[in-house]
Amino acid sequence: MSDAVRVAVRVRPFNQREKDRKANVIIEMPENNPGMVRITNPKETNVPPKDFKFDFAYWSHDNSRKNHGQQDLFDDLGTDILTQAFNGYNTTIFAYGQTGSGKSYSIMGYGEDKGIIPLAVRDLFVRLDKLRAKPIDEEGNEMTYTVEVAYLEIYNEIVRDLFNPANNKQGGLKIREDVKKGIYVENLSRLQVSSADEIERLIDTGAKNRTVAATAMNATSSRSHSVFTIYFKQTKLNKGTLQASDIESKINLVDLAGSERAASTGALSAGADSSTFKEGCAINKSLSALGNVISALADKAKNPKAKMVVPYRDSSLTRLLQESLGGNSKTAMVAALSPADINYEETLSTLRYADRAK
Ligand code: ADP
Repeated sequence: MSDAVRVAVRVRPFNQREKDRKANVIIEMPENNPGMVRITNPKETNVPPKDFKFDFAYWSHDNSRKNHGQQDLFDDLGTDILTQAFNGYNTTIFAYGQTGSGKSYSIMGYGEDKGIIPLAVRDLFVRLDKLRAKPIDEEGNEMTYTVEVAYLEIYNEIVRDLFNPANNKQGGLKIREDVKKGIYVENLSRLQVSSADEIERLIDTGAKNRTVAATAMNATSSRSHSVFTIYFKQTKLNKGTLQASDIESKINLVDLAGSERAASTGALSAGADSSTFKEGCAINKSLSALGNVISALADKAKNPKAKMVVPYRDSSLTRLLQESLGGNSKTAMVAALSPADINYEETLSTLRYADRAK
């Protein structure tokens, strides 16, 4: 298994629809084999189940075995990502899966059941408070720290600012490349923040803007990708020269569009409805581009000498995340699964997508 991308799989409890339809569980995560996931084909009981192995497998379905909560996910993936950010590296965590599988629950959480973003933000400020209590480093230089956040969504390959919708002129925001700044989104709001509560209030506003925009376009937010970025800057004021130098790292937390529309049949069955067709194609394009990037990175990690082109430029999403996927950056993926037989095809395709990251 490569270190380029760490892959976690998580299975949620039955939802009401699955309960009403008296669904059966087709996912197993053997307790004596951490990271292993087994899926049974409900229609062909005479074929053996398929086994997959990941870095982490989280059981949130029921209490038949140890159940993993939000904190378990954060302890394994989130703390590491923060440590990397403090070491100056860019990081990305993204959640993949069909709509309703638990992506938002894992990345954002609901209410007090906080997901990776609010837990990361809390941990970030706890760490910062400790550092700020001792602003002079061992060599006598003065350290200061700045945190800024941005929140955007990508819908039909178009980038939109979720903090300031007035920025979203027709055609959306442009992704630019600059020798000094690297890859950035032109005119995207970056808001400086000083507490976790402040960030949580901003996220609420951003999430509302996302829903309003989706409704206006006659869509739902499950059809766009959302990217929440924390820009963490450490500034060192050199004791001798009085010169300041910065280390900036980005933490990207990505809630992807529902993968069900990525299936080619999803785009095709939209038929005459051209807006749905276009939307299906756009989701398909970015999810497959992300899959190709991740799988190229995993291959590269296994085979560092081989010449490989990582196809970042194939979608807005991969272009935007280019500096936070691969190289020295750390990436983690959460593949969210339904436990139910009625979702077998989608769940198997999510497992296959996650498997390409290894
Ligand atoms: P998605 O973002 O993939 O469309 P959600 O995260 O909104 O899906 O999850 C759908 C529903 O399932 C929500 O009501 C959520 O609270 C619930 N849910 C998802 N994952 C879990 C989990 N691990 N534990 C408990 N409830 C969950």
